[in-house]
Amino acid sequence: MISFRAFESNLKQVKTRINTACVGVGRAVDSVQLLPVTKNHPLDAVLYAVRAGLTAVGENRVQEASQKHAQYPGEVRWELIGHLQSNKAKDAVAMFDRVQSVDSLKLLNRLNRCAAQAEKKLSILLQCNTGADPNKHGFRVGEMEAALEAAVAAESLQVDGLMTIAPLDDDLDVAKAAFEGLRDLRDRLSGEYKLPLTELSMGMTGDLEVAIAAGSTQIRVGTALYGKES
Ligand SMILES: *Cc1c(COP(=O)(O)O)cnc(C)c1O
Repeated sequence: MISFRAFESNLKQVKTRINTACVGVGRAVDSVQLLPVTKNHPLDAVLYAVRAGLTAVGENRVQEASQKHAQYPGEVRWELIGHLQSNKAKDAVAMFDRVQSVDSLKLLNRLNRCAAQAEKKLSILLQCNTGADPNKHGFRVGEMEAALEAAVAAESLQVDGLMTIAPLDDDLDVAKAAFEGLRDLRDRLSGEYKLPLTELSMGMTGDLEVAIAAGSTQIRVGTALYGKES
């Protein structure tokens, strides 16, 4: 694990990248949130983020997040960004403030039932496999209307917007196409269903600039902040 000083320096660089990207396309700098991704890093990663003034962290596994949650006494929002098996939905509802990786109707319905039992309204994002990457989870573009209708009908879920992970490809045009695809999809669904769907969670260490240019409201960054996974 890197030192806090090194983390601060990394954070400064990431903020500069966000700034430059926003200015380059005429967006307000505060229209993009930075979600530090603490997965595969120890609890210190969460402490660093909070100490530096960040208010949420992203984790991709329920068990790992629960361990950190149990050890961490302070206030921070926990967001789940990794694939969730339906049988872990109850634990996820208990622990996370938002689940970004809702990628099947089965999971959506299970989360709704668990949230109802917990007497909680759970914020979610619908994960879309915009790049139609066979190695990635998420609804296909053609399944998104049905997913959104199910989410709206689910009384214990609150759908904030959409999330995607770009296909793994060195060519940034591939990421760009995926991000613009998600934005266009959001615009269409938002108009059709008269829903704000304000959150567009897209962009990571390697492609945050193209994501911001395409309209991302939240980038999820691990490597650029914490270094390679430890
Ligand atoms: C790990 C992860 C990230 C962070 O990726 P980096 O390239 O390390 O910035 C973002 N989103 C998801 C869904 C992840 O699993």
